Amino acid sequence: MTIQTVTVAGSGVLGAQIAFQTAVHQFQVHVYDISDAVLEKAKATFQQLAADYQRDLHLEKADTDAALGRIRYFTDLAAAVKNIDLLIEAIPENPAIKTAFYQQLAAVADPHTIFATNSSTMLPSQFAAATGRPDRFVALHFANEIWKHNTAEIMGHPGTDKATFDTVVAFAKSIGMVALPLHKEQPGYIVNSLLVPLLDAATSLLVKGVADVETIDKTWMVATGAPLGPFGILDVVGLTTAYNITNMAAEKTKDPEKIKAAAYLKSNFIDKGKLGTATGEGFYQYPNPAYQRPEFLQ
Ligand code: NAD
Repeated sequence: MTIQTVTVAGSGVLGAQIAFQTAVHQFQVHVYDISDAVLEKAKATFQQLAADYQRDLHLEKADTDAALGRIRYFTDLAAAVKNIDLLIEAIPENPAIKTAFYQQLAAVADPHTIFATNSSTMLPSQFAAATGRPDRFVALHFANEIWKHNTAEIMGHPGTDKATFDTVVAFAKSIGMVALPLHKEQPGYIVNSLLVPLLDAATSLLVKGVADVETIDKTWMVATGAPLGPFGILDVVGLTTAYNITNMAAEKTKDPEKIKAAAYLKSNFIDKGKLGTATGEGFYQYPNPAYQRPEFLQ
């Protein structure tokens, strides 16, 4: 099967990006959300994305206008998924909301429609039963700023049909993604399985007083040739997300080191509004963070 028609459920940060990326690659896209008011906000987001694609990818205005013309808006779920090959779910990261959504969707979607979740922290097996079609359900995980960070991690659960998996891999490539197939379920997929331990380790070295921010980043950059160190990366990810992840781990494990790290991030960054590149300051000041200066690596 080849995907020809796509619905994106949820038009927030990621849903809007997925819908626009898909429309730019010539697909007709249905966008479904809970109210007309939210969809009006999404239309403004699409205008901003059009400008971002023109600036970063050098698309012509005619191309982004054509993409905008391929998007249709729905608040009626049955109408949104009529004759659709692939539904990509990008609704809030809340298991109760997602389960209720899949149950509703299962009742109205065409039998052949493949469902894909963009969930960052949950596994597809958690929702497989609610979809009513576990064989045609898979995770398709994009990264924020999809047009620049064009990874698509594809991860089935034990009941996902191989043909479904392969169809979604092919679809990801067809919308300009680097398709990254996972052979088994893994919390955090590949990217976050690599990144979260690195960022945790850096925070722990800092909070324990082993070395300062610049020395830790410099070590990583000189030793591996990476353009950013872990604290530079944390500023891009955003300190709010970093704090939430550390705090959840602290509450779950009661590990004194994690509790100390969460408190450190809260008092030094969250409480002071230093949230990373988005607010102009985190571990570094922006624009022109210190780690980009040539002398930083000396
Ligand atoms: P968001 O809060 O920006 O957007 C969620 C959207 O879903 C909103 O427009 C909301 O109105 C809508 N919504 C709520 N309930 C709904 C329902 N029942 N049916 C349809 N729409 C509904 O969230 P987000 O950051 O875009 O995250 C969405 C998903 O994408 C999550 O699973 C998250 O883990 C994943 N994700 C997010 C990022 C990120 O950086 N934000 C990155 C990768 C994956």
